[in-house]
Amino acid sequence: ATPMSVMVGVGKAAEAGVLIRNGEALQTASKITTMVLDKTGTITQGEPKVTDICLINAVDENQVLSWAASIESGSEHPLAQAIIEKASDRKLELQTIEQFQAVVGHGLEGLIGDQKVLLGNDKLMERHSIKTSHLAHKTQTLAMEGKTPVFLAVDDQLSAIIAVSDPIKPDSISAIKRLQNNGVKVVMLTGDNHKTAAAVAEKVGITEFVAEVLPEDKAAKIKSLQAKQEIVGMTGDGINDAPALALADVGFAIGTGTDVAIESADITLMRGSLHGLADAIAVSKATLRNIK
Ligand code: ADP
Ligand code: MG
Repeated sequence: ATPMSVMVGVGKAAEAGVLIRNGEALQTASKITTMVLDKTGTITQGEPKVTDICLINAVDENQVLSWAASIESGSEHPLAQAIIEKASDRKLELQTIEQFQAVVGHGLEGLIGDQKVLLGNDKLMERHSIKTSHLAHKTQTLAMEGKTPVFLAVDDQLSAIIAVSDPIKPDSISAIKRLQNNGVKVVMLTGDNHKTAAAVAEKVGITEFVAEVLPEDKAAKIKSLQAKQEIVGMTGDGINDAPALALADVGFAIGTGTDVAIESADITLMRGSLHGLADAIAVSKATLRNIK
């Protein structure tokens, strides 16, 4: 396309809240054959709320929440916001965490006083040889409701399951349908567990999804689609999406997402709505038509 028509396209897109950082991305957008979407914060609002606290070896919900919120205060994950908010609703005091560590795709580890606190998924528990299989029925029930269950362990003893639910953005369903009607295949990628992912995918009309993906594997999935001659768009909001956003033929960041995601992407959806994707593709088509 001529520099002039690209400029016009960039301006048109901006009016729709779609910020295009490079002209080449604008020209590639209409050629996308597969759009990969992150789940948390991209398809969903990314503002999860605590819905259930199931005590295991603990006697008190507030004690559980105080431990969990204390360790989450070192994390930027959407799950952290939900748990901290719940503790703050109950006016609980948070404790100081030492030796804090975030394990990507797993959860958090740290010390409160001389107690070792772990908060995360079954894979995190497995790393510490803590068995969760006897609770599979409970976690699966929560997951089938679209909730994400996380385990809290204190001194390597399971003490609770905290379930967090992240509502789907109201217009994600129609935005995904628009992409599909444009002939774009839509694939969901998430670090969340398989059952929760399946429940969300079904709600938004996505049949192909990959769950329990580690951040580095998100980028590998993009690569494997590209190896099949797909032109791949990737949309995400998190630090964990950055490598995949950079690798995709066109990376789209959610405007309310992390700075790292925005810097790694070619296009930012300022309004957070996935309708920006079909809008970008439409502008791209119009731009290419203008050259001919
Ligand atoms: P997503 O791709 O859905 O944004 P992530 O890779 O960030 O997912 O996280 C994957 C999983 O790791 C979460 O569903 C959760 O079980 C666990 N996890 C990650 N970070 C945290 C955290 N701060 N607190 C609790 N669990 C976490
Ligand atoms: Mg995310």
